[in-house]
Amino acid sequence: MTDHDDISRRRFLQLSGATLAAAAGAPGAAAATQTKTAVGDAPPGFARLLREASLPWTSGARVVVVGGGWSGLTIAKYLKRHNPAFDVLLIDKHPSFVSFPLSNSWLADQIQLDFLSHSFFDAALNHDYHFVQATVLDVDRATRKVYTDIGFVAYDYLVLAPGIDYDYARIGVGDAEQQALLFQRYPGGFVSASELLTIKHKIRSFRGGTFLLNVPNGDYRCTAAPYERACMVAAVFKKRRVRARILLLDMNTGIKIEKNGFHRAFDELYKDYIEYLPSSEISGIDLDGKRVSTEFDEYAFDDAILYPPIRASRLIDEIGIANPQSPQKAANTDPFRYHVVGDEHVYVTGDSRGQPFSKGGHTAHSEGRYVAEVIAGHALGKDVAWRSPQTMCFSSVEIDPLQAMSIITYYKYNTQTKLFDFDRTHMIETWDVQGGQASLAWAEGMYRDLFYR
Ligand SMILES: Cc1cc2nc3c(=O)[nH]c(=O)nc-3n(C[C@H](O)[C@H](O)[C@H](O)COP(=O)(O)OP(=O)(O)OC[C@H]3O[C@@H](n4cnc5c(N)ncnc54)[C@H](O)[C@@H]3O)c2cc1C
Repeated sequence: MTDHDDISRRRFLQLSGATLAAAAGAPGAAAATQTKTAVGDAPPGFARLLREASLPWTSGARVVVVGGGWSGLTIAKYLKRHNPAFDVLLIDKHPSFVSFPLSNSWLADQIQLDFLSHSFFDAALNHDYHFVQATVLDVDRATRKVYTDIGFVAYDYLVLAPGIDYDYARIGVGDAEQQALLFQRYPGGFVSASELLTIKHKIRSFRGGTFLLNVPNGDYRCTAAPYERACMVAAVFKKRRVRARILLLDMNTGIKIEKNGFHRAFDELYKDYIEYLPSSEISGIDLDGKRVSTEFDEYAFDDAILYPPIRASRLIDEIGIANPQSPQKAANTDPFRYHVVGDEHVYVTGDSRGQPFSKGGHTAHSEGRYVAEVIAGHALGKDVAWRSPQTMCFSSVEIDPLQAMSIITYYKYNTQTKLFDFDRTHMIETWDVQGGQASLAWAEGMYRDLFYR
């Protein structure tokens, strides 16, 4: 064992008490259990975490992909396509995949859950890589090891695509217990499938009164989704003839995308349901009193879906690769090659990325195809020219039949400001049945690409 192994083991054991609690899912759980666990005190099961994971596969240079979301699934598939000799291992903490895109249409009963749910085994079998269900706890970049709850896995290349976490402190809820309660009672539905199931039940069983929704500020996941969700919830209440007022508190100064379309939908379709309030920055929540406060007002609610501002997955920060300048703790990566600055063997993609591209599944997919090529190229000593990701997003506003608007855009690098700007943006702000059908066809095509042949 090298000195570095020893340091790494000690660091890992110190972290593991907190990290394992966090892995269990509750936001703030890590903060609640910040006790340092000395090696001697470690429960017997912990020794397993420090052994090499027993995986039946070994061949070629190993690329470990952490996170079986839109980004990780794409990269795992296309890595094999660009370099069949790679031993690609996809790791996700969940047993199966549930799609967030189109989940708002599911909330409004326009599609079945089956349409959104897919098996990691199908993806791995059909695209010739390996899948293992495990939670990644730490990474030691010096020895190139990923520590998981089933032991460590050595890598030649590592792709981190763990998505996002909520940042409840930015809506005035800093206490770990309050965060956990808030998450369970009023989940945002932007991180896990369990949240979506709870939300669907809330919408189905709401008997009337004020139903609160919000749009977070900062760079949040899927710009149109909170406005789309307000429309889908309103559509369900309208259909069920529930006497409900949907209070949509926008923490931004106005609708951030497809502005005319959403304003028209709120005014024409859901005038009796949606009350839209811009510049409503949430600063505190009284969970027992069911009240939300902003700088100037207080709002009572009967039920709510609270989507807090987000940050890159905590894993990025915990393993020391977050950009200290990034308010949302995004990864410190090369903006064109996606590798961690100074380490061409570790890449960060998808919604944890450092670049300000729209946080979308389509963006993650088109970016993932490029990054897979970059990594395969690196292994062969070949350079791959940068290409922009593409963002495509459908926003459903009406149901029975489903009707949607859409937007498509690319990005270009501005060499003067050294920032990325939108490029070739095309927006359709009138909703129609063709838009609804196109959203289903788009999703079906994506699932086919990621999971099937
Ligand atoms: C309601 C809603 C509607 C949306 N609509 C659209 C749309 O119409 N079009 C569109 O393009 N995008 C849409 N999006 C956005 C899209 O879902 C995300 O941008 C996309 O999922 C990002 O992909 P990702 O791979 O970065 O993250 P994710 O898809 O979140 O995947 C991250 C994966 O990492 C795993 N993971 C995290 N930490 C660990 C760990 N420590 N160990 C092991 N595994 C771990 C998670 O289990 C997860 O499977 C929508 C999102 C929502 C919530």
